[in-house]
Amino acid sequence: MDLRLRELRLEEERAFLESVALPRSPSAGGGHGEPPPAEDPQEDQEQEQEAGRGIWGGAIVPEPLLTEADWQLPCLPKSPRDASLILDAVKRSQFLRCLGDGQNQPLVESFTPEECQSGAVVVAEGQEGQAMYIVAEGELQVTQKGRQLRTLMPGDVFGELAVLYNCRRTATVTALTPVQLWAIDRQAYRTIITENAKRKRAEVLAGLRGVKPLQGLSDAALSQLLDSAEERTFAPSESIIQEGDEGRTFFYILRGQVEVTRNVEGQEEHIRVLKAGDHFGELALIRNIRRTASCRAQEEVTCIAVSKEDFQELSPLCVRQPEATAQETLPLSDSRRGSLLEGASSSSSSLPPPLGLEDLLPVFYEEGEQRGRPVVLGTGGFGTVELVRSTCTEEGASERLFALKRLRKDHVVQKRQQEHVLMEKQVLLQSRCPFIVRLFATFRDSRHVYLLLEFCQGGELWAKLREARCFSEPVAIFCSACAVEALDYLHSQGIVYRDLKPENLMLDAKGYVKLVDFGFAKALKRGEKTYSFCGTPEYLAPEILRHEGHDFSVDFWTLGVLIFEMLVGRPPFHSTEPQKIYSKIMDGVFSFPVFVSEAACSLVAKLCRRRPGQRLGNTSSGIRGIRKHRWFSSLSWKKLALRQIEAPTTVLLRQGSPYANFRRFSISRQVPEEEFSGWDEDF
Ligand code: ATP
Ligand code: MG
Repeated sequence: MDLRLRELRLEEERAFLESVALPRSPSAGGGHGEPPPAEDPQEDQEQEQEAGRGIWGGAIVPEPLLTEADWQLPCLPKSPRDASLILDAVKRSQFLRCLGDGQNQPLVESFTPEECQSGAVVVAEGQEGQAMYIVAEGELQVTQKGRQLRTLMPGDVFGELAVLYNCRRTATVTALTPVQLWAIDRQAYRTIITENAKRKRAEVLAGLRGVKPLQGLSDAALSQLLDSAEERTFAPSESIIQEGDEGRTFFYILRGQVEVTRNVEGQEEHIRVLKAGDHFGELALIRNIRRTASCRAQEEVTCIAVSKEDFQELSPLCVRQPEATAQETLPLSDSRRGSLLEGASSSSSSLPPPLGLEDLLPVFYEEGEQRGRPVVLGTGGFGTVELVRSTCTEEGASERLFALKRLRKDHVVQKRQQEHVLMEKQVLLQSRCPFIVRLFATFRDSRHVYLLLEFCQGGELWAKLREARCFSEPVAIFCSACAVEALDYLHSQGIVYRDLKPENLMLDAKGYVKLVDFGFAKALKRGEKTYSFCGTPEYLAPEILRHEGHDFSVDFWTLGVLIFEMLVGRPPFHSTEPQKIYSKIMDGVFSFPVFVSEAACSLVAKLCRRRPGQRLGNTSSGIRGIRKHRWFSSLSWKKLALRQIEAPTTVLLRQGSPYANFRRFSISRQVPEEEFSGWDEDF
C-alpha cells in the first residue's frame, strides 16, 4: 500500500478510536434518561459498575401481549377534525408512520382523551412510560435535567418510545396551560400494529399463492420470497415497466391500478388494467426475454417487487433442475456439522454433574477488598451468576468449577418472564454444541431458580472488547466464526437466538467463544414469524422496529452488527439517544472507517441488508454462504469445530485466579420474597 495512504489510514484509525463512545446506550429497564436514584448505597455502587449497560444488560425484554380475555382494545369514534389531527400527527411520527394502509381507523379510534390542568406533569423523567400522546389543545414544556428543551403545541407528539417497549422517560413534560391530549398505550399500539402486520402478510401470501409461476411453492418458500421483496410505490403516470427493456423485477400489486399497453405500429395500444391482487412482469423473468409490454401507474400504486434473482431462485417455472423441491431451495443449516460437533466438546463441559445444590460451595475472593466474599461473575436483570465448586470431586481429580446463575422468582413473575426463563432452561438443556455454554443441572427453592452452567473462565467478550477498544481482524474472524457455529447449531434445532452481542459471548479457558444467556431464544418453524419486541437497541433488526414479524434472519443481522462492533469498537448504528439509533437502523445507512478491510465491509453489508430475505445466511445458500465468504478464507471451519485451532483470543486472557478475567461486583444480599405460583415446577 502507498505509504502516504497507509499513514492516512493509521491517522484516521487513531482519531477514530479516540472518538469511540464506549458505553452501550441507556436502554429499557436500565432507563432511557436518568435511572431513578438508588436508595441502597450498595446498589448505587452496583449501578455505577454497570454504567452504560442498564440493569437488563442493555437488552429489551419481550413483553407478552395481554389476551383478549384480560383486556379490550379501546374503540372511540372521533370527529373528522380530531381524526385528521391524530392522523396528521401519526404521519409525522417516525415510529407510527411505518403503519401501512388499513389500520388508520382502528389506530385513530384507540386514542383516548386526557385533560390536564396547567402545571400538571404528564411525563416525568426517569419514570417508566406506558403511553404516547398527541397534543390536541394547549401548550406543554419539555425539560431534561431541569434544562428547558422545547414547547409542544397542538399536533405535536411526545413519548413515542413508550409504545415500542417498556422504557424510562428521558425528559419531563409539564402543561403550561390547561391541555387536552390524545393518548395511546403500548398494549393498544402493539395489538393494532401486530395484528395488522399479520393480516397484511397473510393477505399478500394468499395473493402470491394464486400467482401461476409460484404455484407449488411451499408456504415457507413463499414466505422467503416475500421476505426478499421490496415494497415500492409509484406516482400517478409513472412508468413501471417499459416495453423492450430487460426484465429485472416481478411485481405484485398491493394498492392502485396499473395500465398495460403495447406498441403496435408506432401507436400505444391499451391492453388492460391491473388492480390490487394482480401481478405482472414474470414473463420476461421466466423466459429470459425483454419486456413485451409497458406498465404505467394510473394512480398512486404500491407493489411488492421481487428481484429477478430471487424470483428465478424460487419460482418452480424457473428452476433449471426440475427435481429440486421448493424445500431444498430454502436456507438450510449445514447439517453435516451435527455429528462433528458432538464429539468436540471441551473437556470442561464433559465431566459428570454434581448431585444437588447442597453439593455446591461458593468460591471466595482470596485477596483485595472483597477477600472472603463469594465470587460474583456477573449480574443480570433477574439475579446473579456466582462461581461455585463441587464437593463431589473424585479423589485426586482437580476441583471442578461451575457458574451458578441464580434468578429471583419474584422478579421473573413481576416482569412476566416465566416463559423466557423456561425457554432458556429448555434450550440450554437440549444443546450439545461446543460454542454454546453447557447447562448441567437446574434447581429451585421458594425464592430462586438456579442454572448450573459450565464456567467460562475467560470472561465476557464485551469486557475484552472494551479493554482492547477494537479487535484485530484475526481475533474478530475467530470470534465471529464461533458465533456462526453457535447460530448454525441453534437454527438447525429450530431456535432463533435474538440477542447476539458481545455481552452474551464468553471466552473459555482456551479462548474459544461460547454463547450464553438464552432468555430471548424462541422456537420457530421455517416460514413462521414472531412478533415480540426484544433485543438490544443498537442490535435491533429493522423488521423488529417496524413490527413486521421476524425470524431466523434477525440473527444474521445481529451477526453483521457484532462483526462491525468488534472491528470498529462501536456498533454501526450508534447514538446516545435511542430514537436516533432507531432512525439510523430504519434508514439502513452506515459507513465503515477506512481501516476496515474490504472483505469485512462486504460481509457486514451482506449481513445487514434491510430485507431479511436478502441477507447472507438467509438466502438459498443458507449459512454456508457466510462460511464461504472471503473474510473467513484464512479459517478452517473443520478445525474450528474440532477445537483444533489455537485461539487468537488467548492474548486477551488474564492469567491468575479463576476469576482474574471478571470484574468485581458487590451485590446486595437482600432476601427476595417467596414465590409459590408453581411456574418453575420443571426446574
Ligand atoms: P438475562 O439477560 O436473562 O437477564 P442475565 O443477564 O441475568 O440474563 P447472563 O447474561 O446469563 O444473565 O449472565 C450475567 C453475567 O454473568 C454475564 O454477563 C457474565 O459476566 C456472567 N456469566 C454468565 N454465565 C456465565 C458462565 N457460564 N461463566 C462465567 N460467567 C458467566
Ligand atoms: Mg445478559
